[in-house]
Amino acid sequence: MNDMKLKPSHNASDRAHDKCGVFAACDSPRAAQDIFLGLHAQQHRGQEGAGILVSAGPGRNHVHKDHGLVTSVFSDEILEMLTGHFGIGHVRYSTSGHCREKDIQPLIATHRNQVMAVAHNGNITNAGRLKEEMESGGSIFHTSSDTEVVLHRIVRVDSESPAEKIRKGLKDVEGAYSMVLKLEDGIAAVRDPLGFRPLHVGKREEAWFFASETCAFDIIGAEHVCEVKPGEGYIVTGKGLEHFVLDQPVKPRFCAFELVYFSRPDSSHESRSIHSYRVELGRALYEEHPAEADIVTAVPDSSNSAALGYSAASGIPLDIGLIRSHYTGRTFIAPHQALRDTRVRQKFNVIRDAVEGKRIVVVDDSIVRGTTCRKIIHLFRENGAKEVHFRVSSPMVANPCYFGVDMPDREEFLVNKMPGDMLRQFLGVDSLGFLSPEALTKVVGSDTCDACFTGNYPVKIEDSSGRIKKRKDGPLGKFAYL
Ligand code: SF4
Repeated sequence: MNDMKLKPSHNASDRAHDKCGVFAACDSPRAAQDIFLGLHAQQHRGQEGAGILVSAGPGRNHVHKDHGLVTSVFSDEILEMLTGHFGIGHVRYSTSGHCREKDIQPLIATHRNQVMAVAHNGNITNAGRLKEEMESGGSIFHTSSDTEVVLHRIVRVDSESPAEKIRKGLKDVEGAYSMVLKLEDGIAAVRDPLGFRPLHVGKREEAWFFASETCAFDIIGAEHVCEVKPGEGYIVTGKGLEHFVLDQPVKPRFCAFELVYFSRPDSSHESRSIHSYRVELGRALYEEHPAEADIVTAVPDSSNSAALGYSAASGIPLDIGLIRSHYTGRTFIAPHQALRDTRVRQKFNVIRDAVEGKRIVVVDDSIVRGTTCRKIIHLFRENGAKEVHFRVSSPMVANPCYFGVDMPDREEFLVNKMPGDMLRQFLGVDSLGFLSPEALTKVVGSDTCDACFTGNYPVKIEDSSGRIKKRKDGPLGKFAYL
């Protein structure tokens, strides 16, 4: 789900963001409540808008979507009005800081009196060209979203079989899509042949569920059955569960960043917790970049598991040096120069006696812009840390993502601005170490995408006129630029 401009959007924050989370339920007596809880568990995947569409059968569809967090969009009264036993939901992260009403998903199409809706996590890399072709044939689009292109293509397929419609509609669609669909009498879930973004199947008594992350099943008391494998899909109707396979070659390239940072540590990938991947990344980080220190501490929360791994491998005790506030709510631009670090101070505070007079290893999961981690390091110094050794449990992020992750513009990646020791000096640390791409692959597997670290994009990237973007070397030589 993204605007169709194939340019990484301007991400004003210091982090990469997953753009969306999806959830679907079928044969649940309280589908809306299940979808609400499933979206709530996946709130970290998108905080700008949320939507749920439920159905009690043909002609009995109810939808509600709005800007904001899941809990603010859906009151108890609204959920009571969303009656039906099947439906889909979506949480959205906006790429540009503003989110248009019509872009909030699920996107809905009515065709020959039938209502189909879709909720999408990912990004279609050839959406511009496909849209152009369809507009030449008379199609009218209401949004600037690549998701609408997919919806049009599926709806237009003339077939009674939903699996056939989805298979044919997705035939020439490229890029990342883990999506759930509301059909006339049930739901569907489908994942692109490279499987960039996660998608899982859950079950509770007679009810079937699909979710971006397995933590969404725990909250509703459903068991995790399996993942929707790359290039495969499921239809669930009153007749039961139907499995189908797309007509495209499968070449799994799961997003390594999901394992490094995006997914919740209590979710799982290939029957293993995300937490355990991160612990192993922390161990590998110590093997590549050891340090002599008194304590290891994490940049909470997403780096906790990697810090634990670094501590376990090194034998250096883990301590809590930094506390993160979860209640920062709205931040503001500090008007005074002396308060310019207010945003970071609102979010993080150092436990002084844990770090004072000590040599500390600070473990973070990734560096994109680096502005927040520079300020955090300053906080440690202010609180008396004797030495600060900064360790990152992923390689340097140097390339944009075209597969459903929002990142700043290429020029803003810290590593592209500061080669070699300049980076260490800028951050103000005694030593600096990033996990190598080779070590990352060893932990997360070779069937993953690591393009934002290495520049090795697993599919060709088109601009809106269908021209293939070419890879060329960046000013630092070893980084790939498109
Ligand atoms: S480019 Fe990076 S963020 Fe995007 S899918 Fe690949 S690994 Fe994930």
